[in-house]
Order: sequence, then structure tokens, then C-alpha cells
Amino acid sequence: MSNNRQTDNLSNNTTCSVKTTCPYCGVGCGVDANIKNQKMIAVSGDTKHPANYGKLCVKGSALHETMGDHERLLYPSINGQQVDWPTAIAATADKLNSIRLEHGPDAIAFYLSGQLLTEDYYVANKLAKGFIGTANVDTNSRLCMSSAVAGYKRAFGSDAVPCNYQDLEQCDLLIITGSNAAWTHPVLYQRMVAAKRNNPSMKIVVIDPRRTATCDLADLHLPLAPGSDAFIFNGLLNYLANTDGLNKTYIAEHTEGFQQALTPVDGHSIDWVAEKTGLSTADLKQFYQWYKTTEKTITFYSMGVNQSSSGTDKCNAIINCHLATGSIGKAGAGPFSITGQPNAMGGREVGGLANMLAAHMDYSPQHIKTVGDFWQAENMAQHAGLKAVDLFDELALGNIKAIWIMGTNPAVSMPNANKVKAALEHCDTVIVSDCVAQTDTTATANILLPAMGWAEKSGTVTNSERRISRQRGLLNAAGEARADWWIMSQVAQQMGFLNGFNYQSPRDVFVEHAALSAYENSYGQTTTHKQQSSRLFNIGLLSELSELEYDQLRPMQWPITTDAPSGTRRLFTDNQFNTASGKAQFVPLTAQLPQQRLSKKFPLALNTGRIRDQWHTMTRTARSPRLLEHTDCPTLTINPSTAKQYNLQQGDLVNLATRSGSVQVIAELSHAMAPQHTFMPMHWSDQYASNARVDSLIAPIIDPISGQPEFKYTPAQINKIDVMTWASIVTHQPINCDEFLYWHKSDLKQGTGYVYQVASIKPFNWQKFISAHATTNNIKPLAFEQFSNSNEQDERFICYTESAVELAIYSHSSRERLPKISWLQALFEKSLMASSYWALLTGEDYKQCNSGKMICSCFKISQERIVDAIESGAHSSSELGTELKCGTNCGSCIPELNTLVKAHQQQPDAIESAFHLA
Ligand code: SF4
Repeated sequence: MSNNRQTDNLSNNTTCSVKTTCPYCGVGCGVDANIKNQKMIAVSGDTKHPANYGKLCVKGSALHETMGDHERLLYPSINGQQVDWPTAIAATADKLNSIRLEHGPDAIAFYLSGQLLTEDYYVANKLAKGFIGTANVDTNSRLCMSSAVAGYKRAFGSDAVPCNYQDLEQCDLLIITGSNAAWTHPVLYQRMVAAKRNNPSMKIVVIDPRRTATCDLADLHLPLAPGSDAFIFNGLLNYLANTDGLNKTYIAEHTEGFQQALTPVDGHSIDWVAEKTGLSTADLKQFYQWYKTTEKTITFYSMGVNQSSSGTDKCNAIINCHLATGSIGKAGAGPFSITGQPNAMGGREVGGLANMLAAHMDYSPQHIKTVGDFWQAENMAQHAGLKAVDLFDELALGNIKAIWIMGTNPAVSMPNANKVKAALEHCDTVIVSDCVAQTDTTATANILLPAMGWAEKSGTVTNSERRISRQRGLLNAAGEARADWWIMSQVAQQMGFLNGFNYQSPRDVFVEHAALSAYENSYGQTTTHKQQSSRLFNIGLLSELSELEYDQLRPMQWPITTDAPSGTRRLFTDNQFNTASGKAQFVPLTAQLPQQRLSKKFPLALNTGRIRDQWHTMTRTARSPRLLEHTDCPTLTINPSTAKQYNLQQGDLVNLATRSGSVQVIAELSHAMAPQHTFMPMHWSDQYASNARVDSLIAPIIDPISGQPEFKYTPAQINKIDVMTWASIVTHQPINCDEFLYWHKSDLKQGTGYVYQVASIKPFNWQKFISAHATTNNIKPLAFEQFSNSNEQDERFICYTESAVELAIYSHSSRERLPKISWLQALFEKSLMASSYWALLTGEDYKQCNSGKMICSCFKISQERIVDAIESGAHSSSELGTELKCGTNCGSCIPELNTLVKAHQQQPDAIESAFHLA
């Protein structure tokens, strides 16, 4: 029995608690999952896991609500026909072999994912780069943190994150730039909140064009002009140089290139930086003074820095300042890049990026030989492959004939997503391994391979602080789903690569990966000087793990070597770097603004990113109705003054257009946005809305070094769409949306039905719609009760069979008058009598249906109840917690609670309208 299981009776009535890792963001929280009768009944934070010490955010807390077979991909299929595994594997292998033979290996591409386990990632890279011979292997992590990788490599000679999460608690100055951590890395944010509480003199600076939830913690918010981050840090370097703020000893002994880095920042005075960034000189001066006078400084940065046409330079502008003050390699100090995805770091370890080989090696002749020898590879790729944007361009041109996509949804998440989708639709061979049946990308596949989901697969992931944790298989696989490493190994052997893919378990893959990290690598073996040829990524000490030891592996930070058998908390403590000289490198750079400019035709700046309760393209989080209660539709957040210019009110339907395309989205007014700035979430796909894939609006402009796209700044225009009829529809069966101009959808619990919101620019004939729905779905007999008030186009229908409510429609000329999603979700859960239908249409039940936005998803506390409590005397988030419990579980809503309290204190009458955070 594993010590990670309180009992191993997985198949009987006993509840079993198993330790695993959250599959969402790069924090990598440990999770205790409770299993009973092969069902996950609850989750809680692992109190011993060093990433989270028992905490989970709202997404992690809802993991058990996303389980179940509904909408899972259960069987392999070829061209829509279900087949068995031998047939699917043979067809995949035959296709890849014939394309390789006819067009060469570079005609084959792999597009991987930060959701894959390290073992899956490793086998994919080995198969592609070592045996098929194509380096065209890239990953959705390209879109997330490839600029951070490039920045670290330029400065330190290796892709090495120096810091750990404790550093966030030990610093005296925390700079958060390009990150809304309160929503994107909530458990880390909670650690920052606790650190500030314990050390009130700690200063926190948030650099972000938006006033995000993270600003709740800031001593100083710098709302810079979008994309101007490097001007701030270049100006800081100049300030440090001119005000005796340098650590000259550190610069002299441990770095190179300082004078060259100073040249391009010469003359970057505070006034000059203020002009470039739109910030006040007083705020900049305050920030610079804090930086200069604080020894223990962390700069915490993420997608807001990385997703830029000059993202790599921005990362190096940050690192330059840390090198100039020597604030690196010690407790509470360093440039700390945070990954967005659960295993982006694991992907970096195995060479998931097209310009890397496995085990942090690249395409130098020496490294190609090292990897080739270790793998005994027949066809080692000899050059770096195509990065994501270039890869899909080649696909569109027809030069790539086959692509194998695993666990990701590029038809939604790539820039120029419409072109990517069209390219996939026209590609000869699209193989997709996924655990979800219907995504925008699976819709383009010729060969569909069912992969195990989070709770079924077994392996390891690495979080943002280099900590490797086990993700454990807890449930039996749905249908015929298989582990990705198994699928690829079978295909490899079928292709004729008989040696090298005889893995029997994920442990077999892991120990090989660990052995490769130590192969021809002197790092960690009592070396005192980190030679360029040695590699920091060394976990060789794990290469002999038995199955039991692998199962019991506790979370550890790499490097894990004979010198550091328990792992390594912090890098560069000896001031030695992986460069030829062993010294860190300053990078001279000139700050750049985003490549596109606003114009008369496109006068608004569009920013994109994540919201609090959703993850990526919603294939998992949308399965939990609770996670859609906070934000249930694609929104465009705009400043009220900008909205006024366009005659827009809260909740209006907006057409948002850029040079690349247009989408329809719901207006959300917020003072969190500066005038002329807009923000739209990245999550909605064609599965959940009529036309709201924001990445279809993004031009494929990339950073020239990292290849990371510029998702954070696109010139845009908006115009209001005049809607005549809005409706909320709750139904057991999918509805036909062809006649609506706009729709978005949420799932009900366990696939029991759907809630739609739809819009039409004309009056709508609901009786005809009900009749057509009954015919299509063969629902007989379908009767209905109806209420209507023609003055307001207020129409309501409860449609029922003899046994239950089948369909409910609430239609109105005003969207604000429709029932809220949480009330609609509960409709099918109630046991309703025919006599109560009228109450649902007109009575008390209906009057209760508008309780405002759900702020606390854990305890289902709406904005309206929170406002009532504040108006009745609650003065803080903790008092609200005592009264309503809101904010007392995962804490994700605490910044919003604070905002509501502050809004009331500043302007009691305006509290209802003062609030929205994005
Ligand atoms: Fe999962 Fe939330 Fe932890 Fe991220 S912060 S790993 S989403 S529980």
C-alpha cells in the first residue's frame, strides 16, 4: 500500500484519499482527492504540499465537479467511424510512415501541451526528434512563457528559474508585473497576502495597465501604457547607475556586459520614462527609490510580460536590474517568471519547444550527439524546428502534411485562430489525442485518439518553482481512453521503431528521462564551477527509482543530484552561471512598444487574458456549473467613458473587430480599464458561444527571439448591436441556435442539460421554436404554460412532458431582466409539480431569480447579498466572511469583497455600479 493513500480500497465502499496535483495553473498545488466507488466525491488542498500547504483556489476546489464520462472522448475513430485500438494505431503509424517516405520527416509536426505529463511529453519528443527525425515539435507553452525561457537563457546560459515560492514571503519588495496573480495564480497570491500581513513593511508594486484584483494588495499601482514595461526597467537601470544604486562588486565579479547594457539606457531619465509610459514621475521615483534601497527584491512576472513582440527583451530588462543590484541567488531576491500551465516547466525539461532538445539541451552538434547516443536514435533531427506560429503557417501552405495534436485546442488559442482552423480543416492528416470529444480542434481531426483525463493518468508535473510532483491515476479510464505515453509508444513500434519504446509504465519513462538529464552532465557531482557544458537540469538521482519509490515520490525541486539529494530550493547561490565564463550576462536592449498602432479606424487597445474561474478553452472548467456563476459569458470590459462614446450600457451586445476578424461579445463596464482600453477573456470557443474566439482577432505578430505572439495589444473597434429579443433558455437537449444572432451556453450538472442565453435582432416566435424543438428531439407530448406582457416583449414558457420540465424560456427586450444563471441551473434540480409552474413564470420563485453576480462561488454568495451586508454595517472582507462565509474557503473572491467595501466607503450610493474587476 502506498503511503500516499490512507486506504487503497479503491474499488469498494470505503472512501480513499489519494495525493495528486492540480491540473490547472503553474502554481502546482497538491490535492487530496477523496474516492469512493470509483467516483471522486471531494477534493481538498494537501496540507503537506510545499506549493500550497492545504489551500486550493476556486478552480482547484471544484475539480471533483468536472469528473464524469459525459462529453468525454471514449473510443478511437477514423474519419468519424469508431475503430478499435489496433486499427487506430496501425492507421496512425501507416499515415506517418507514408508521409515521411514521400515528403520527408519535416512534413510531420507535433503540437503538444503544457497539460501533458512529463512522461507523455518525453515520449513525444523522443519519437519525433529522435526516430521520425522531425524537429517540428512545438507546444502551447510557446504562447505562455517562451519569452521567459529565452530571457533566462540569454542571461544565465540556461533555462533556470532561480527562485522559489518562499522567496515571495521573504522579500521586502515584491514587484508584480504582467500578472493578475489574484485570478491567474490565486494560491500564490494568497501566500503574498499572508506575507504582507506578517510583514507590513513589505512593499508591493503592481505594474499593469488594468486595475486588476491583484492591485488590492498594492502599495503602489503603476498603470503603464500597454506594452511599455521595458521602458520602466531600462529607466530603473539608468536610475541605479546614476544614483549610486549599483552593486559594483557583484557586477565586477559575477557578470559581463554591464557597460554595453548601460549604453542604450543612457538618458532614460524619470521624466523621459514617464513620458513613454504615461506614468507620473512621482510614482516612478517612488518605485525606483524602493528598488534602490531594498536588498531583498522579487520581480514576479508572467504572460503580461511574455506575450509581446519584444517579450524576451522585457524579461532581460527585468533581469538586468536584478544583476545590477546583485538581487539574485539569495533568499527573497530574484527575477521570478511564473508559468501559466501546470506542466509548462516539465515540457521545457524534455524539449517540448521546437528549438530545444531533451534535458535542456539544444541543437548544438555536441548536444545532438549526446541525445542521439543516449536514445540510440536512428534519425536525430539536426536543426531546430518550427515554432508554433510558423508551424501553423507551414501547415496552411501545405508543406506540413500531418500534424499530431495532443491535449490542446489550437483552433481556439492560436493567434489568427480562423486561419489555423482552416489550415487544420485542409490538412491531409490531423491526428488529435484528447480526453474531450467535441472541441474546435477535434472537429478537424481525421484520426481521434481518446486520452486519459486528469484523474486517470499517472506521471509527474513540474511547477513554476522547479518542483516535480506526482500526478496519480485515481479513477479507471473512461471508455477506452489510454495514457498518451502508451499511445505514442504503440505507434512508434508499429512504425518500426522496435527498440526504445518498450515502456511498461510511466515510471519506466520517468527513470529514462532522469538518466538522460545526468548523461554526459557533470553538474551536481561536487562541481564548484558550472561549466557551460554542464547542465543545471539534472535529476539523475531519480534514475534508479523503483515502481514503489516512483509512486511515493514526494515533491522535489530540481536539480536533484548527489550534491543535492533532497533537491535545490534556490539557484545561483554560488553566483556561478551556465555561461562560458561562469558569469551572468547583461543584455543591452532598446525598449519597444507593441508593433501595431491605434488608428482612426481601430482606436481602441484590445488586451486578452484569463478570468478568475475558467481555464484555457473551458473543456474542463465549463463542466462545473459553479465555475460559470461568476462570469457565464464572453465579455468585453470597457471603461464607462469609452462605453458612453459608443452609446453602450452594461450588458449590451457588442461587435468587436480588429484587422484579423470580428466577434460578438457582452459589454461589461468597469473603471478597472483605462479609457480606450478593452479586455476580453481567452476562454470561449465555438462550443460555448456563437462567435467569441478572441484569438481569431489577434495578428500573428511574434517576438523575433522566442516566437511568442503579441496577445496583449491589438488595435480594435467596437459598435453596439441593437438587440430586440434576449432570452435565457434552460433545456435538457441542445437547442438549434441557427436563427439567433448571438448565443452562449453553459452546461448543467453531469451533462443533464444546458443553459443558453440568446439574442435576436427581431421579435422571436417562441411557440414555433418550441414546436420545432419538440419535433427535433422527439419529445411527446410537450405542453407549456405561458406568461406574456407584450409591452416589454416579456414572454415566459415552461414546457413539460407528463413527467418533468423539459424546456424553460424567459424572453425579454432587456437582457438585465433575464433570470441569472444560478437560478436557471437550479431549475431542473428542483422537484417541480405541475401546479408550481405558474410560480416559476410569475410568482415568488420568479421574483427571486435576479440575485446579482455570484462573487463567492464556494458558498454561493451573490453581489446583492454582499452589498446588503455592507450596507448593514460589515466593514471588511473578514467581517463579510463572519457574516456570510464568503471568502472563507479558497479566498479567490477576497479582492472583490475588498473592492465592494472600498466602493461603499468612498461612495455609498454608487456601490452597485462601482464594481467590476477583470
Ligand atoms: Fe490549481 Fe488554483 Fe492551485 Fe492553480 S492556484 S494549481 S488552479 S488550485
